[in-house]
Amino acid sequence: ETHDTTDVAIIGAGPSGAAAAAWLAQRGLDVRVIERSRFPRFSIGESLLPKCMLDLEACGLLEAATAGGFQTKNGAAFTWRDRHAAIDFRDKFSAGPGTTWQVERADFDQRLIEGARQLGAKVEFETRVEAFTSDEREPNLTLVDAHGQRRSLQARFVLDASGYGRVLARLTGLAQPSTLESRCALFTHIEDRIDCPHYDREKILIGLHPEHPGVWYWLIPFRDGRASVGVVGDRATLDAAGIDDTQRLWHFIHAEPRLSRLLTNASAIRDVGRLEGYSADVERLHGPGFALLGNAGEFLDPVFSSGVTIALDSALRAAPLVERQLAGEKIDWDRQFEQPLRRGIATFRDFVDAWYDGRLPRIILGDQQNPRIRAMISSVLAGYAWDEENPFVNASRRRLTSLAKACANSANNAADEGLFP
Ligand code: FAD
Repeated sequence: ETHDTTDVAIIGAGPSGAAAAAWLAQRGLDVRVIERSRFPRFSIGESLLPKCMLDLEACGLLEAATAGGFQTKNGAAFTWRDRHAAIDFRDKFSAGPGTTWQVERADFDQRLIEGARQLGAKVEFETRVEAFTSDEREPNLTLVDAHGQRRSLQARFVLDASGYGRVLARLTGLAQPSTLESRCALFTHIEDRIDCPHYDREKILIGLHPEHPGVWYWLIPFRDGRASVGVVGDRATLDAAGIDDTQRLWHFIHAEPRLSRLLTNASAIRDVGRLEGYSADVERLHGPGFALLGNAGEFLDPVFSSGVTIALDSALRAAPLVERQLAGEKIDWDRQFEQPLRRGIATFRDFVDAWYDGRLPRIILGDQQNPRIRAMISSVLAGYAWDEENPFVNASRRRLTSLAKACANSANNAADEGLFP
């Protein structure tokens, strides 16, 4: 077994790993990224939020990402039965960019990690982290390469950016189940052939199933006439809809009138994928000599496309603290990293809860159109979930409940009672 050393070891070359690597490498630290798969590789999580652009810029990867020429995204459109509503991220309460991209992650992630490499990070693909020893000063990883060769890598700090791999959460026993209900997603990529002149490719389309509360869809158009489409729901409902996942996904697409119309001429260009029980949490997002980034720590729910945003935010909070710790400063990881990161996650969590219990669909699809309030909601959906000036951040739960009540009391919405409990 050979032995190797570095300043910072990063597990995983997805967006959070690449962002942390880029930031730290630029400060002259020796950064090693260890990635299990060979890139480019497929990943779900294709619709970004405008807040991401700030983090991409801060870690020096905005240019590399921009070169991808990705589909612009400026908001989210929602549809349920004959009701439609659109939220434009450019009309928002918080300062910051109002547009972002819809990306094929294989290409996007490849560009980010290549950008990090050009900024000085070393990246090893097809190498997996198998064991970990936690230590304040000398945390240690055991790596296994494609040939089965074992090697130890000693770092001065370890960042876990392994996404659903949840490497350190599992190896250190920090993993704990999410308090969100377990759900299931079926998805594919299509050649969409949408010819509807009113269809807005610059927005993610979120559809609600006309009858099943809690079953919803995404349609995320890419450049080049391709798109990602998926359905989310409880496993039993999804499984009852066909004999295999392809049949099930298309069964649901055909059950939603708008999607069904838009995708009349669509054809699939990859096999239907399935992910379930993806919501996850941990007791703590840090420990002696390590911190957890992005999905390696927690993951809520896909509905507001917050995954990559939280992943990048966590990377940009952790990286400067790592630099300071390695320079000899004492860092309080709980107070300086976990607590502020969790504030924004809690905002998204309140929005996710309000989505599944019907408050948010009622607000978004209702006739309550106070522009200032819509701008506050738009801000959170654009990713500015940490802006304490926004009442829908600092009192999100209470605000969402009272607004949903006001919407329910308006005549037009009274009929929804049965659908959204
Ligand atoms: P990842 O991008 O998952 O990267 C982790 C990397 O670590 C991988 O490349 C993996 O190969 C590597 N790895 C794992 N284990 C090991 C190991 N042992 N050793 C070495 N390397 C390892 N987010 C959005 O922003 N927008 C969306 O529209 C969206 N839609 C979603 C839909 C669904 C159904 C689901 C479940 C999630 C969705 N997400 C979305 C969330 C998004 O996929 C993730 O939040 C995001 O990819 C997290 O990035 P990351 O950098 O933390 O991890």
